[in-house]
Amino acid sequence: MSAENAGPIGFKAHDHAACVSSSLDAAEAQCADKGLRLTPVRRKVLEFLLQEHRALGAYAILDLLKEAGFGSQPPVAYRALDFLVEHGFVHKIERLNAFVACAHPGKSHAPAFMICRLCDAVAETQSTLANGALDAAARAAGFQIERTVVEAEGICPKCKEKADA
Ligand SMILES: [Zn+2]
Ligand SMILES: [Zn+2]
Ligand SMILES: [Zn+2]
Repeated sequence: MSAENAGPIGFKAHDHAACVSSSLDAAEAQCADKGLRLTPVRRKVLEFLLQEHRALGAYAILDLLKEAGFGSQPPVAYRALDFLVEHGFVHKIERLNAFVACAHPGKSHAPAFMICRLCDAVAETQSTLANGALDAAARAAGFQIERTVVEAEGICPKCKEKADA
């Protein structure tokens, strides 16, 4: 993984149009690769989540789908989200009961999230579980970790700037 990809994209200024289109391209390529179907509704949900580096709840997504003419049945949104989460295109933020597009699609990784409690911006970074204290404790206890949820809550650079001004 390059240093560029390892950073918390959500909080930095970047070429966001390129960021959205390259993420969609990556998702298309991976689905083609793995024989998965990125149906129009799945693609649309991913697109909504890529629009802003912010977590969206299932109901917000459902509203957006409705506006986009995809019907208004909650299972449509839930099934699309399940697919996207299962295949790693989207992560669920437990703290917010909401979803964000993965910042490192296609790479196996242990995501860690920084969540702004003022604006709900979410930045994804890597958790350093492999060398961390939790990993050491788990090993000592003979416990095999399969999944961890790392969600840090705080104030993003933008909101901090506003608060300091
Ligand atoms: Zn972006
Ligand atoms: Zn990710
Ligand atoms: Zn913020």
